[in-house]
Amino acid sequence: MTSSGRAADMRVTVLAGGVGGARFVRGLREALSGDDEITLVVNTGDDLWLSGVRLQPDIDSILYALAGVNDTERGWGRAGETERVSAELREWGSGWPWFTLGDLDLGTHLARTGWLRDGLTYTQIAERLAARWPIGVRLLPMTDAEVDTHVVVEDGSRLHFQEWWTRHRAALRAVEFQNEGIQDAGPAPGVVEAIEGADVVLIAPSNPVVSIGPILAVPGIREALANARRVVGVSPIIGGRVVRGMADACLSAIGVETAADAVARHYGRRADGGVLDTWMLAEEDATLAAGLRDEGWDVRVEPLWMSDLERSAALARAALA
Ligand code: GDP
Ligand code: CA
Repeated sequence: MTSSGRAADMRVTVLAGGVGGARFVRGLREALSGDDEITLVVNTGDDLWLSGVRLQPDIDSILYALAGVNDTERGWGRAGETERVSAELREWGSGWPWFTLGDLDLGTHLARTGWLRDGLTYTQIAERLAARWPIGVRLLPMTDAEVDTHVVVEDGSRLHFQEWWTRHRAALRAVEFQNEGIQDAGPAPGVVEAIEGADVVLIAPSNPVVSIGPILAVPGIREALANARRVVGVSPIIGGRVVRGMADACLSAIGVETAADAVARHYGRRADGGVLDTWMLAEEDATLAAGLRDEGWDVRVEPLWMSDLERSAALARAALA
């Protein structure tokens, strides 16, 4: 056992979205040693084609954060970014004028799109992207299929998730999220093995609907979770509020209250056919623990703010304990 009270050489697999996922995984990497194995299964529902290139926002957010090249002030994209190409694309009327692509970030998208044209899969591309920096984790897309999330809004129109999220700031009332073709998609190679072979699977405090939701919707992933040794989820809701972003608009669209216990019930206990064994609740939500425990939940109450690396690492240690 190490000083953190856990066995050495752990295999940990994390299901994650972008920025929230990245914060959590940075802490996890800090909490583990170099002998431990971390595999990330990342949401690709946010992906899109724009100006002829393929974007994978959650993969890239995680990659940049783990490589330490992310813009910590703005909260997304690359540090030291410029936007000359984006300004030029706007002049051409290409892409979305409200969706700015940084020049360095575009380099990633061009490389990825070139590899796609060469016939590489998204799994192989993630491996290439991750090889540039010593990020210390294995990065897997949830699937090799393109299953971009679309949002059906109140008036019946359907838009790409990024248009709803970035252009409309999630202000159009969503009634449904769709990942066309996902029922025919399979988990990317290695995903099922990573989930079934891990000592523990962690569900990051990512958006439950549009980050974790698409991962769980890939046929085969829920089954793999059913075979996992242990599954621990961390609440993205603290004190009845989404910490950053607009996840509440996603939750209300699927009829889930923005509350840490409601999200737990949405994921469900494995014993009842859901995906979790343990749910980590914020101290601010401690009063919700009793109700969940009455329903048979294993609940842990911990500080869930990931405001710096040390707090993220403490959270990861608690999730592993
Ligand atoms: P995105 O793909 O970039 O939107 O990021 P994710 O889906 O991975 O994570 C977004 C979610 O992270 C938000 O809905 C927040 O509720 C959650 N989140 C952000 N910061 C924190 C934090 O410090 N603590 C916890 N527990 N959750 C957080
Ligand atoms: Ca995302």
